Amino acid sequence: MIFDSSCAGCHRPGPVLCRTCRFVLAAPPAMPSSGDVIAAVPFVGRSREVLLNFKYGNRRQLGHHLAGLVVNRLLAEGIRPADVDVVTWAPTSAARRHRRGFDQAELVARRVALQLGVPCRRLLRREGSAPPQTGLDRATRLHGPVFTASPAAHGRRVLVIDDVVTTGSTLRSAAHALRLAGAVDVVKAAVATTPAAVAGRRREPARTRRRPAATHTVVHGPRAA
Ligand SMILES: [Zn+2]
Repeated sequence: MIFDSSCAGCHRPGPVLCRTCRFVLAAPPAMPSSGDVIAAVPFVGRSREVLLNFKYGNRRQLGHHLAGLVVNRLLAEGIRPADVDVVTWAPTSAARRHRRGFDQAELVARRVALQLGVPCRRLLRREGSAPPQTGLDRATRLHGPVFTASPAAHGRRVLVIDDVVTTGSTLRSAAHALRLAGAVDVVKAAVATTPAAVAGRRREPARTRRRPAATHTVVHGPRAA
């Protein structure tokens, strides 16, 4: 199957993430500040392509690579494994989890925890069924989902993970719930952040298009290896 044997970043036949794309992701352009969220890569170009493939193309093998990017970024920001008691994630809705077959944030969080040598626990529950963050107008997205946190967060230093940050409202809401449950410290991290999330709050962010899996048979032009 072409889909299973091509790179998620450039669609060339081969491993799930080719060497070129791996290098591109590992050395992203200078990351502007994304508020208090530690993000590994900007949600543009090749990294956006990889993330969309991960999220909508059911390519969960990418989780390991994406978690590695997050861990490298955390270390670069001075966050050490000893600073974190537990890793958790901002869960997606049950409907989306069912549709995709997995929760992409959970998958990354579990891999991040493994790489840091820190336990990973489900500490957050998503209330209601807010629509997804992408494809909505900004006002709707700013409200974000509502989470409740497990009492197990009490007294813990928590690292909470999401996949893509748009306005930051999801992670803000998740961190709020964790603090209400008694977490003593909450570090927010994401694989990617949209340019809109980092370019200030004045501009309307570009809409994020979903790529259905069926479009992945499109073969992009050849690239230098
Ligand atoms: Zn590639």
